[in-house]
Amino acid sequence: MKKMTLNSSPTSLRKLEGKVAIITGGASGIGASTVRIFHENGAKVIIADIQDEVGQKLADKLGEDVSYIHCDVTQEDNVAKLVDTTVHRHGKLDIMYNNAGVIDRKLGGILDVTKSDLDKVVGVNVMGAFWGAKHAARVMIPKKNGCILFTSSATTNIAGLSTHPYASSKCAVLGLVRNLTVELGKHSIRVNCVAPFIVATGISGTRVPAKAIETMATSWANLKGRVLKADDIAKAVLYLASDDANYVSGLNLVVDGGYSVVNPSMLQTVNRFLS
Ligand code: NAD
Repeated sequence: MKKMTLNSSPTSLRKLEGKVAIITGGASGIGASTVRIFHENGAKVIIADIQDEVGQKLADKLGEDVSYIHCDVTQEDNVAKLVDTTVHRHGKLDIMYNNAGVIDRKLGGILDVTKSDLDKVVGVNVMGAFWGAKHAARVMIPKKNGCILFTSSATTNIAGLSTHPYASSKCAVLGLVRNLTVELGKHSIRVNCVAPFIVATGISGTRVPAKAIETMATSWANLKGRVLKADDIAKAVLYLASDDANYVSGLNLVVDGGYSVVNPSMLQTVNRFLS
């Protein structure tokens, strides 16, 4: 039976009409929101993840322009196959969004870092980003066109927000973005990343309820009266993926409501002084 499509935006308003996109880590959180928003904007989307049931369910729900492929981004052969299958199925790859990521389950300082923590975090966040970039570039360079995106983090702008392995992995992603921007510019390929502040998603596991994460994040936030959601990040990704960002490359688009430009403890003192 033909699957129903939920894509209801008028064609003229769709920003990714006719584009083909891969979203790694697309089964949940920021990735899943981006899958929905890309689909609403007319893209054919491949969800690449290791959560097979959740990823397949999302693809089934959205309809025939969205499909799911199992892909462990730490394994180069998985990523190579993902890209080849996409090109075989849709004839091209326009947008590669390297979004899959993990945080270390154990909080702590430098003395607590173990090789297994590093292997896990660097394996997914850094090596996964490399394989995604490499195999996307392999098919985009001959076409002289493409858009490669990544999810970095607010930790690329502010220190002390996370563990050392996580912060280092996201700064490595930003380093890759900047270096790739230079190499791929001559092939007309744009390279950018989004840097989210705290969003309640599956990344923190089930130990801390989403509501508690949002309460904590809003109490720290600079921008009051609203809560940062995965859709807010997805909309920033949509901008970078679309022709609206036609000449934007090498950008770390920080979505933090201004958090990184404020010194909260100094602000408290200034406010006390002024009141
Ligand atoms: P999430 O856990 O909901 O999504 C991450 C996705 O990556 C999951 O679907 C997971 O199955 C997938 N994944 C994990 N390992 C994988 C692997 N080896 N191969 C393929 N897929 C794999 O969390 P999220 O918050 O949506 O995270 C998305 C990205 O955003 C990550 O890169 C994360 O570091 C980044 N980020 C999140 C926040 C936040 O506060 N949530 C803040 C800054 C950056």
